[in-house]
Amino acid sequence: MKMLLDGQWVDRDKKIEVTDPFDNSVIDTVPAGSKKDVESALSAAVRGFEITKRMTVYQRAQILFKTASIISDNLEDFATIIAREGSKTIREARKEASRCVNTITASAEEAKRILGETIPFDSFPGGEQRRGYYYRFPIGVILAITPFNDPLNLVAHKLGPAVAAGNAVILKPATVTPLSAIKLVEAMVQAGLPPQAVQVITGYGHEIGDALVSDERVRMISFTGGVEAGKRIAKLAGIKKIGMELGSNSPVIVWKDADIELAVESCVSGAFWAAGQNCIGVQRLLVHRDIYDEFRRKFVERTKKYKIGDKMKDETDMGPMITENEAKRVEKWVNDARKKGAAVLTGGGREGAVFEPTVLENVPRNVTIHCEEVFGPTVNLYPVDDLDEAIKEANSLPYGLLAAIFTSNIDVAFKASYELDCGGVMINDSTDYRLDSMPFGGVKYSGLGREGLKFSLQEMTEPKVVCFYLPKM
Ligand code: NAP
Repeated sequence: MKMLLDGQWVDRDKKIEVTDPFDNSVIDTVPAGSKKDVESALSAAVRGFEITKRMTVYQRAQILFKTASIISDNLEDFATIIAREGSKTIREARKEASRCVNTITASAEEAKRILGETIPFDSFPGGEQRRGYYYRFPIGVILAITPFNDPLNLVAHKLGPAVAAGNAVILKPATVTPLSAIKLVEAMVQAGLPPQAVQVITGYGHEIGDALVSDERVRMISFTGGVEAGKRIAKLAGIKKIGMELGSNSPVIVWKDADIELAVESCVSGAFWAAGQNCIGVQRLLVHRDIYDEFRRKFVERTKKYKIGDKMKDETDMGPMITENEAKRVEKWVNDARKKGAAVLTGGGREGAVFEPTVLENVPRNVTIHCEEVFGPTVNLYPVDDLDEAIKEANSLPYGLLAAIFTSNIDVAFKASYELDCGGVMINDSTDYRLDSMPFGGVKYSGLGREGLKFSLQEMTEPKVVCFYLPKM
């Protein structure tokens, strides 16, 4: 596939192979963008904004509705690309493709709700004979940088609202999974988006990232990815808006009055969805001691039934990790925890890029798999005795994207929802629950700002005040 620069689909002699992590077969290639391509993308985007800022809301919304319909008509093609270039099984990929239709549709709907307000200028002395209002206008060129784990829908979460708001956008997709992102841009252009309104530059973040991020023509960076890249981007960005959707190591409390079957089913899926490569994946399960043994037994039994294998088969529950190196990293973290006293209740094995669904207990509080985001198919169990202790434990690390609690006691649910330090609390769902239109984002190292279409549109527009002085009034 090609990059889209200044309205042209272009290739380069230097290419990057996109491979299927299950068998390392080459699916396609994309050009390795250079600093010269960065300059083309930036100067074209500035010209693109001259077009997009003059498009009406109706035009922008119609393009997005049409894009959603193109994706919907080609759902299986989108799902196949997601499943082949990344880690997801075909069932997981179909769900992502359907969610992408919702994300783009909701972006179109929200385009029609970019509202302003009248301002009561005469509410203070000095405001007499003045009437005015503010409206929200697009901010200019937005740089969207996206990760590999939801290679289509997380791109839609940036391109949908950027287009809805009337911005021009430069997309730099993850190098390992650029194909579904490019296919989304093709659908947008087919739907009538002027090709100058969007640039897609493929290439390694460590080669072209700094030039994109630090350029003053970019007015906002919308980044989803890991904390390390996020820190570098924040350091180089200079004076521009930054939206950061980063990682976490999500805690889930299972209280003594919980529906255990529901909690087990929900948390197994939450821990191993996309082979655990999920920013809201369940990593720390804090289970009340009264039900700990029963929960542990059922959780391990259910995990053992999880089917690993060929991603393209309907019956497969979990595929490989994104690369063999990533699977080796998780293996190292598990072995390190084991050496320091953790017990592996099931899993722990690796074959190539496939790491088994793994459950640990007695995990010391100073090992990496407790403190950091694992971003792999492992989960830690911890017994807890009281709610304050569980909440303190949940809040003890420098991440805070989503947290969750299973309980049938409304007081417990309310207390947890107020005291858990994070961007959202799920009651009787695992942390792996996201509706695309809800405000989504984290506190602490999990991020800055919120996505979720209405909220992205706020971040991607700025208020402009208009004030009329009417001396004859
Ligand atoms: P990553 O390594 O941080 O990469 C994310 C993106 O940043 C890729 O496009 C990458 O390009 C680019 N990049 C890397 N270094 C850069 C630099 N110096 N300048 C500019 N761009 C740079 O993350 P990942 O491994 O793809 O994704 C996993 C992480 O994303 C996890 O931490 C996960 O929690 C987080 N995530 C968060 C959310 C959320 O909504 N909060 C959702 C999904 C994932 P290359 O691919 O070329 O390196």
